[in-house]
Amino acid sequence: MGSLVPDVLSAIYNNTMHSFNTGFDSKNPPSAELLSACVHCGFCLATCPSYRVIGKETDSPRGRIYLMDAINQGQASLDSVTSQHFDSCLGCLACVTTCPSGVRYDQLIMAVRPQVERNQPRSLHQKIIRSLIFNLFPYPERLKLFLPLLWFYQNSGLQSLFGKMGILKLFSANLAAMESLLPAVDLKSLQVNFPTLVPAQGTKRYRVGMVLGCVQQLFFSPVNAATIRVLSANGCEVVIPPHQGCCAALPAHQGQEQQAQTLAKQMIDNFAETGVDYIIINAAGCGHTLKEYGSILQDDPQYRQKGQDFSKKVRDIQEFLVEIGLSVQLSPISEGSLTIVYQDACHLLHGQCISAQPRTLLQQIPNVILKEPIDAALCCGSAGVYNMLEPEVAEELGRQKLENLLATGAQMIASSNPGCSLQIVKAMKSKGQVIPLRHPIELLDLAISGDKI
Ligand code: SF4
Ligand code: SF4
Repeated sequence: MGSLVPDVLSAIYNNTMHSFNTGFDSKNPPSAELLSACVHCGFCLATCPSYRVIGKETDSPRGRIYLMDAINQGQASLDSVTSQHFDSCLGCLACVTTCPSGVRYDQLIMAVRPQVERNQPRSLHQKIIRSLIFNLFPYPERLKLFLPLLWFYQNSGLQSLFGKMGILKLFSANLAAMESLLPAVDLKSLQVNFPTLVPAQGTKRYRVGMVLGCVQQLFFSPVNAATIRVLSANGCEVVIPPHQGCCAALPAHQGQEQQAQTLAKQMIDNFAETGVDYIIINAAGCGHTLKEYGSILQDDPQYRQKGQDFSKKVRDIQEFLVEIGLSVQLSPISEGSLTIVYQDACHLLHGQCISAQPRTLLQQIPNVILKEPIDAALCCGSAGVYNMLEPEVAEELGRQKLENLLATGAQMIASSNPGCSLQIVKAMKSKGQVIPLRHPIELLDLAISGDKI
């Protein structure tokens, strides 16, 4: 493997050389051609959040690429040790942005995750946690049944009692992490029912479809409402197909291939007869997955082309608004100046190369002064459900991200992803320093309506 192979990686090789079950299975293993593009320069290490916290080569992009290559060649096995190094990857894609050789680590890790899920048995505890996540979060109708229970838990004093006693942490660090991310439950979100068609205000410019998201639908419905108002105000007729589920981001990021394909097909079918020019989404992680339907459904002859056609129409709301240009005047949203720090969501910045657009929109609001944090491109630790599955690494990243955001002295944080928002709010609560956090589209909505924060 050459002199660049670090000691820790050699140790894994030595441990696994004699293992009986070596190699990946034959269903879409990581491509040898993609692996060979890596020249092992190590430039990506400095921008990798798992390497930043864990500090081991095996938990860096280069180390994982070595490992994939070794497993591909049957020199190492996919076992509990090697799987952990793939599990520790946040899938933030910072390494893809950084890599001067254009290594498609995104495609590599997307090929490996299903291999881990198929071939590496999980502990009973992990099976229960994962089953809870994958059977609950992508299904808004099931989540709705839980909302009253969660509301009772938060408002009866049980949550603070459990928190003081540290019961959940004793029982399961993953469950405790899940609970600590829970936003204040608002039962009004159970009654939110958007119309299936919202007319454009003024001259109609476009007919767009809107994806509501699963977690976004229940815990961030004001962001969806703001998105619809902003689109309509800017001359878009908004089509909102009913009974929408998850876009497939959650299972796709964790290698749950079949579930991801089923959900992607349902989403495509939901929009099939709508005749929209574009499909709009306001959550970074969902947008990235919606743009990947062609590859998620690449083995499905009936849906491959439909997936590609669907993805071509997908736009992040901020990307879309900058593309078409605002057709309305914006008013100040604060009496005096308002300093805002924008937090880049990885699946916008690295996954969709969207960084200028949210800043452009925020800077168009009168009186807004935009601040830039250091390490803006480093993941906050949310990464889909990573902060529930790998809570220790995630917490440290959340702490670092918050420190950098607050160091700007901004009065408010703007974030375009529900997962990042929950992660940052959690870090603020732990630190005991809470400042307002809003989606940029909520601020734009205020600037259009003329209301103040
Ligand atoms: S992935 Fe790219 S940046 Fe990282 S070691 Fe390989 S070639 Fe270098
Ligand atoms: S996707 Fe993110 S966490 Fe994973 S190897 Fe790349 S930079 Fe590191």
